[in-house]
Amino acid sequence: MKSKRDLPAVLAGLHLATGSSGLFFDFDSNQDYADATQVIAFAGSGGLGLPDRDFYTKDDDKSKELRARYAAHVGRMFELLGDRPDAARREAGKVMEIESALAGASLTRTQRRDPYKLFHKMDAGGLKALTPGFDWDVYLKTAGLSRLNAFNVTEPEFYKELDRQWRSLGLADIKTYLRWHAAHATAPFLSSAFVNENFDFFGRTLYGVPELRPRWKRCVALVDAQLGEALGEEFVSRAFSPELKQKILHMTKQIEQAMRDELVDLEWMSAATKQKALEKLRAIVNKIGYPDKWRDYGPVDVRRDDFAGNVARAGLFESRRRLAKIGKPLDRGEWSMTPPTVNAYYNAHMNDINFAAGVLQPPLYDPKMDDAPNYGNTGGTIGHELTHGFDDEGRHFDAQGNLKDWWTEKDARAFNDRAQCIVDQYAQYTIVDDIKINSRLTEGEDIADLGGLVLAWMAWKAETAGAKPESRDGFTPEQRFFVGYAQWACENHRPEDLRARALTDAHSPGKYRVNGLVVNMPEFEQAFSCKAGQPMVRENRCRVW
Ligand SMILES: [Zn+2]
Repeated sequence: MKSKRDLPAVLAGLHLATGSSGLFFDFDSNQDYADATQVIAFAGSGGLGLPDRDFYTKDDDKSKELRARYAAHVGRMFELLGDRPDAARREAGKVMEIESALAGASLTRTQRRDPYKLFHKMDAGGLKALTPGFDWDVYLKTAGLSRLNAFNVTEPEFYKELDRQWRSLGLADIKTYLRWHAAHATAPFLSSAFVNENFDFFGRTLYGVPELRPRWKRCVALVDAQLGEALGEEFVSRAFSPELKQKILHMTKQIEQAMRDELVDLEWMSAATKQKALEKLRAIVNKIGYPDKWRDYGPVDVRRDDFAGNVARAGLFESRRRLAKIGKPLDRGEWSMTPPTVNAYYNAHMNDINFAAGVLQPPLYDPKMDDAPNYGNTGGTIGHELTHGFDDEGRHFDAQGNLKDWWTEKDARAFNDRAQCIVDQYAQYTIVDDIKINSRLTEGEDIADLGGLVLAWMAWKAETAGAKPESRDGFTPEQRFFVGYAQWACENHRPEDLRARALTDAHSPGKYRVNGLVVNMPEFEQAFSCKAGQPMVRENRCRVW
């Protein structure tokens, strides 16, 4: 960069190359909230090195200490880039200043759960007016995106702060900031000194991880991250049979039927809203295991002797692939999770639920086991994703995935009252030390957990109607349904990890996703013959769906 006028072109190049949202802002494609058939450009907040804006704004001693250690890490990275210690320290201070200003202008994760707060569609003129000092034409042209005229600027206030920053920062400071983020985004793929320094802060200090994972595990994870559907095709051929896909589809249909039955009988919802909810339920698309059409990685040049180059080329391919969706017809078959992933998701814009083949493996779904644990576990997951379409966030989108209010005012109030019961319940649980669950952040997941297992129970009862499942291993079928559910939460966290997640994770810790859920189900109380007054019996049970 010779002058600040070079920033838009340099930034577009760095965004393409790194795919990182850490360089001043995030620029990506997504469905138009108002018209889900269209893909438009999304200009979002970003620009941070720490995982959330709260890391910069919280004022307690632990947060201050973590910021000091982060600044020391940024300084050491500048030294690895060749700067002298005193210069590196000054540069780290400047990075902290810029990131703190951007963090202060960003919405919190809890605020971001409200899609209305994130939808500000504007034309190119509107975007330019927010940041008059930044040449968007050059930025877009360099990113390969000429003639765009529809943008969702998710957080306009953030862009006003960006403009203030760009005006007040000198050329040298901007270069310092960009050097840090370019190094940060690539550190895991550079020489050992960078890999180890990066791990020392982002692994050991931030999450309490005692040692770097072995090289082969990092390599497998990287292939999954960058060429996930190529890996997934092989994974599916070995670990996901057509029979298994059929069985899961069967389970999904039963769970949808359970949701339909629930909706029809629901006391707190008016007929008008029920009709819309049923319409949305009917429209949900079930994607199971893997995509129908595999992604073509043909243009990615993979060379045996060029690791960092491979990472960069695969990153560039992914950045271009995402941006190329802007202005094109929506591909409803696309997945945003790779097949080997041990997870599932609901997408409110697509109105689809997606179960990666990786989450349909033992000990979660086990074809050698009987229905009780399989419905408890996988049924619970299916029900969880389905319920996301009707949680505090998903309920704002209609059957086609448009942001549209289909609730009567009275029904919305009734929903909020029921959700509040869960918010109040989870707010009492301690994550670590003096940190309680931020249950406004975890509200959607907690609602989905409860709704999901209630539906799974109904589906299991429908599947086994007329049959007489037997006890095994000293547990009744009903007990094994709950034991099966809890299997996914066999996990252990270090205190540092719990602290970081308290700020970033929309899920409650696994312990409460099991114990906090089952105390709301009378079926659990019966299955384990719990008595009133015992810890696993809650007097005022919550129930949304
Ligand atoms: Zn979820």
